[in-house]
Amino acid sequence: MMRVWFVLFMSLVGPSVVWGGELTLQAAQVHNGEVAVVRWTGQPLVSGAVRFRDRVIALYADVDGAIALLPVGLNVEPGEYPLSAVLVDHQGETHSPQLSLQVIRLERPLERLTLPERMVTPQGKPLLERIARESALLKDAFAGHSLRLWTGFQRPVDDPIASIFGKRRLLNGKPKSPHSGTDFRSPLGTSIKSISNGRVILVGDFFYTGRTVVVDHGEGLFSLYAHLSRVTADVGDELLPGQEVGKVGSTGRSTGAHLHLTVKLLGERVDPMALIQALSVSRT
Ligand SMILES: [Zn+2]
Repeated sequence: MMRVWFVLFMSLVGPSVVWGGELTLQAAQVHNGEVAVVRWTGQPLVSGAVRFRDRVIALYADVDGAIALLPVGLNVEPGEYPLSAVLVDHQGETHSPQLSLQVIRLERPLERLTLPERMVTPQGKPLLERIARESALLKDAFAGHSLRLWTGFQRPVDDPIASIFGKRRLLNGKPKSPHSGTDFRSPLGTSIKSISNGRVILVGDFFYTGRTVVVDHGEGLFSLYAHLSRVTADVGDELLPGQEVGKVGSTGRSTGAHLHLTVKLLGERVDPMALIQALSVSRT
C-alpha cells in the first residue's frame, strides 16, 4: 500500500519514480499532429508499454533504457491525457507509473490551391483503378511492423519549408483533407536524404505522389518522399541517416519542383518537422 501511495504522490509532483529508474515525457505539452516522446531511464526492462487514449504502445530499447513514440493525431482534441504505463522488471515485478500529456490545439493556416480540374477529380475506370491499386500498395507498406532501425532524425534537404504539415486546404474552392506532410522548396535535382536509418520498402511512380520512395524506420515509423524526378534507392536497401533516396522533381500531382515528405507513425500521419526537431541528430 505504501508503495502505491508513493507512486501516486510522485506522479502528482513530477516524473514518476519507480523501481530502478524514471519514466518521463520529453515534453509535457505537444500540439495535435505531433509526436510525444516517452522515455524510461534506468535498469533494463523485460517489457514496457504505455496506454494513450485507446492504444497500448510498446516501449523499446534505447541508449539508457527504453523509448516510445506516441502519435498525437491531427484530430486529437486539446486537453489533459493520462498516460498509464506497465513496466515489467527482471524480477518479474510489474510497475505502473502514470504520466500526464497536455495536447494543445495548433491552428494551422488555410491554403487555397488551384489545379487543373482533371488533376482534382480523376475520371475514367483505368485511372480510378490505378489510384485504388496504388492506395492499397501504400496501405500495405505502412501496415508492416519491423524492429527498430531509426537512430536520430535529420532534414531530408536543407531548403526552406514551402508548406507545413496539417495546413487546411481548399482545392479549387472545395475543402480537402489537411496537408499530409511537409513541403520543402527545393530546386529540381536536389539530393534527398533519408531522415534516419531505415530500409527501403516501396519504390513506385504513382498518380498522386509521382516517383515515390517509402522507408521503414522500424517500430511502425515510416517516411515517404514524393514527386521525385529520379529515384536512386532500391527496395531492400539499408539506409544510413543522410543517405540519398532520390532527386527532387515535380512528378505526380504537383505544380512545380518541391519535396513532399510524409511521416507515418503507427498508422497516423504526424508532422515530420516536429519529429525531426524532437529527436534530431547533427548531420554527419
Ligand atoms: Zn505536400
